[in-house]
Amino acid sequence: MLLELHNITKKYDNAAVLHDVSFTLKPGVYGLLGSNGSGKTTLFRIICGVTKQNTGTITYNQRDIHSNPDAFRSILGFLPQDFSYYPDFTGMKFMLYIAALKGINKKIAKKRCLELLELVGLEDMKNKKIRKYSGGMKQRLGIAQAMINDPEVLILDEPTVGLDPKERVRFRNLISSFSENKIIILSTHIVSDVEYIADEILVLNQGRLENRGASAELVNTISGDVWESVVEASKLDEILADYVISNQKHTANGTVLRIISKEKPTPNAQQVQPTLEDLYLYYFREDANK
Ligand code: ADP
Repeated sequence: MLLELHNITKKYDNAAVLHDVSFTLKPGVYGLLGSNGSGKTTLFRIICGVTKQNTGTITYNQRDIHSNPDAFRSILGFLPQDFSYYPDFTGMKFMLYIAALKGINKKIAKKRCLELLELVGLEDMKNKKIRKYSGGMKQRLGIAQAMINDPEVLILDEPTVGLDPKERVRFRNLISSFSENKIIILSTHIVSDVEYIADEILVLNQGRLENRGASAELVNTISGDVWESVVEASKLDEILADYVISNQKHTANGTVLRIISKEKPTPNAQQVQPTLEDLYLYYFREDANK
């Protein structure tokens, strides 16, 4: 199983939103990390064949996915960001409907739908209307429908949006539980979602693949660039205006700032161990300061 993107470029109205994006994925869980507008959804839509790239190719096991789109679709699962469902359908009816759309034989479909609803923890809700589901339940149903064809490649666009912390943990466990022998790519702009779950993180910044690697590897690339400094009230505004600030905490001795900077920002600044959150700000500082 090898999914390869070669020099994918996409333009809308002559403005490029993806620039020459290339990467190769083998089985594993990948987090596509980028701020809003960085091109994550566009990239997914291209992989799923919903949108066409202007240049570049995508191959799966060395075959161009566009040469036989039906074959690729049959091993692909997709949870779009704007996942739509029918509120008056029950979870089971919805799953059967998706199975029918995918051309799955009726007898097999029923068994498969029940298995999947159980896998995502919705067995007790299967005969309830979707309008009664919580946000987390709907997202789990979205994952279940994306898994209906037992996909080798599973793409989840912002799957954790709207989930509370408990639901997030449940989601992570769910992904881990079926990640074996699959290529799973999920996009997010929430650092903690990918920190624990992804084997590798791909950083997409303004349509360019900036970096990729395990969380610890990526974080290491900015070691030496994260500082903590106690700043007195009179200097605070100046420092806040001049630097990317990852955190600030008020104490009796002044404000403790966590600062991302190549140079030592203040005389008393101490280098500290960077986190993935700091790395995110390092890449997406303009967006963060908006
Ligand atoms: P993300 O998923 O990272 O938030 P998107 O892929 O949705 O990013 O968007 C990337 C850029 O492409 C944005 O500037 C967005 O406005 C633009 N864009 C996306 N879809 C279209 C479209 N159909 N027409 C024009 N511009 C688009």
